[in-house]
Amino acid sequence: MTSMTNPPTKCFNCSQKTDNTLYGFYVCKPCEEKIGLMSKETIQQHVDKNKDFKKEAQAKLAVLEKDYARKKIKLLHIIHQTSSPQ
Ligand SMILES: [Zn+2]
Repeated sequence: MTSMTNPPTKCFNCSQKTDNTLYGFYVCKPCEEKIGLMSKETIQQHVDKNKDFKKEAQAKLAVLEKDYARKKIKLLHIIHQTSSPQ
C-alpha cells in the first residue's frame, strides 16, 4: 500500500474528514444518521400503498435539482459581479 490513494474528504455537512459516501456525497456516519433515511421496510410499505412511489421520488429529485441549479447560478452571479478589482 502506498500513500498515493485519494486524501480523506470532508463530510458535506460538518466538514469532518470521512471516506463514507452516499450517492456521490461524502457524509460522516453521525450526519448520515441525522439525514433520516427510510429503512428498506418503510420504503416497501410506501411502495405497497403507492405504485408510483419511486416515480414520484424521481420527479421530486428532478424539481429539486432544477431549483438547486437556479439558486446556485443566482449566487454565483452575485459573487462574479462583486469580485471585479476594486
Ligand atoms: Zn458530518
